[in-house]
Amino acid sequence: MSDIIHLLPDSVANQIAAGEVVQRPASAVKELLENALDAGATSIKLIIKDAGKTLIQVIDNGCGMSQTDARMSFERHATSKIKKADDLYAIKTMGFRGEALASIAAIAQVELKTKRIGDEIGVSIEIEGSELKSQEASNTAEGTSIAVKNLFFNVPARRNFLKTDSVELRHIIDEFQRVAIPNPEIAFTLHHNGTEIFNLPKGNLKQRLMNVFGSSYNTRLVPVDEKTDIVNIGGFVIKPEFAKKTRGEQYFFLNKRFIKSAYLHHAVQSAFEQLIPNDSYASYFLMLDVNPKTIDINIHPTKTEVKFEDEKAVYAFLRSSIKKSLGQFNIAPSLDFDQEEHLFNIPLKPIDGIIKQPTIKVNPEFNPFKTDGIKTEKQISNQKNWERMYSRHADNQLEFEIKKEDEQQVINSEWDKDLSKKSLYQLHNKYILSHIKTGFIIIDQQGAHERVLYERIMDSMEGQKSLTQQELFPKTIELSAADFALVLEIKNEIKTIGFDISEFGKNTFVIHGIPADSHDIDSVHLLEGLLENYKQNLQELKNNKQENIARAMAQNLAIKSGKILLPEEMNNLIDELFACKMPYSTPSGKPTISTFSLEDLDKRFKK
Ligand code: ADP
Ligand code: MG
Repeated sequence: MSDIIHLLPDSVANQIAAGEVVQRPASAVKELLENALDAGATSIKLIIKDAGKTLIQVIDNGCGMSQTDARMSFERHATSKIKKADDLYAIKTMGFRGEALASIAAIAQVELKTKRIGDEIGVSIEIEGSELKSQEASNTAEGTSIAVKNLFFNVPARRNFLKTDSVELRHIIDEFQRVAIPNPEIAFTLHHNGTEIFNLPKGNLKQRLMNVFGSSYNTRLVPVDEKTDIVNIGGFVIKPEFAKKTRGEQYFFLNKRFIKSAYLHHAVQSAFEQLIPNDSYASYFLMLDVNPKTIDINIHPTKTEVKFEDEKAVYAFLRSSIKKSLGQFNIAPSLDFDQEEHLFNIPLKPIDGIIKQPTIKVNPEFNPFKTDGIKTEKQISNQKNWERMYSRHADNQLEFEIKKEDEQQVINSEWDKDLSKKSLYQLHNKYILSHIKTGFIIIDQQGAHERVLYERIMDSMEGQKSLTQQELFPKTIELSAADFALVLEIKNEIKTIGFDISEFGKNTFVIHGIPADSHDIDSVHLLEGLLENYKQNLQELKNNKQENIARAMAQNLAIKSGKILLPEEMNNLIDELFACKMPYSTPSGKPTISTFSLEDLDKRFKK
């Protein structure tokens, strides 16, 4: 038998490596942007077509490459960034593995044009599936332009695996922001299908954040600045009152490289303790600088985790520096340092002189049951339902319609007819306790209300019969580019639930009207809350906009845990809940009702 082991041809090896380096268009975007940073560019343009499936092009004004280097750059393990193993411990560049271009060229059609600063003539190279197609002298601009076309053209399985354009674009925007935020001294633009999504001029970090997330960030940012032997900490946290219920704006940059760290996130979150509600996340853009020797640099290019030599110390410094900042800027009420107003142009105290308690975005005063003393038709009919329910109990066992056969929460027991409605009891401002003949049930008020609203919204979407409450004074809302794109995407659907909005210049909408039953909620908060929940639901409901909007809106409007309910309100809620098609769970599948039998109780008391 002859020997059977042989070396894989480079093109195959590269394709295999590509599977690790390039998972989706966004990973190619990341690599190309990082190369442009490493090349010392001061201006970087990203041009995308069809969410990167057709084209990803990065144009920089960095150092450029010689003709030989240009060709070499596509070889595997070809890098200009390290020469010997020792260099690995002093990495200051984003790349160093020499894998990215080789990988990308293995699975796409790549056009590279580059010229070094000062060179007479540059070079243009075309490579397709690792194969050199052409190489010629070219009269191109100083710097480098790389166009990656038809990603995965030769790996159909991968190509088919890609998500919808909106999902892939979101990933690209994420990567773009992760590179653009920590490099405010570099100008960036991003175009998608001919539309400018970002235009970020040079500036400082604060200006960069305002350009990325909207000018409203001007008054939201609190600077953090601490220098120690182990780590220098800079950047900003967002004031507690703007904390969000979704993760999203949690950015750590370690030596300007985006990293994820649950451990450090915990440090920040703990610095915000007591200042934000338990279910909210602190938002932050924190720059950590450490000596490269004290971190494990051998992180895989696609990974964003990192190991610190002295993780505990970094945690402690981070926590204390944020606490200090929040205190200094008079956000933590217990601390009142000397205020240095000139340092930062946000008003240290609100204009009206009253320091507000941090609040979650949804109007806490909102009372979905408020009727100003006048009973609505709906309430009257609810009351009738209640009465019907109680009288029905009298003659027969009440069986609730249950959709799922294996439904755990079967309450087929009789409601105790002797109980008046007043026997409802609110536990910890969170749960409603009610007797049933065989024991008792506990209803989660927030989840129950979510269910009620969700079904109502779904109905109105399907029946197209929602009402709009026109705003007396239409408000404008400025969004981040990503959120603006998202609203455009769901504009038609949110119309069907009663929003009336129109575009108003760059990243801005005017809100003319909101769903009629949103009561006294501020229109901007309402839309922001909807968006936030919508994004949160995206993972689970990628392709179902309607469902997501109904869920998001229900989450947005539902009374929250912690709200004190009047007996009448509890009555109405339970009444409406049992009028639902599927009362037993929230739209996202969490239980709304839990049943406890007397037997269970008896057992506990060893009876
Ligand atoms: P790495 O970045 O890990 O070195 P890459 O495959 O990303 O590996 O790039 C290979 C080499 O090509 C780089 O080391 C660099 O010398 C060169 N290169 C890539 N992109 C650019 C660019 N935009 N400008 C100048 N040189 C570049
Ligand atoms: Mg690289």
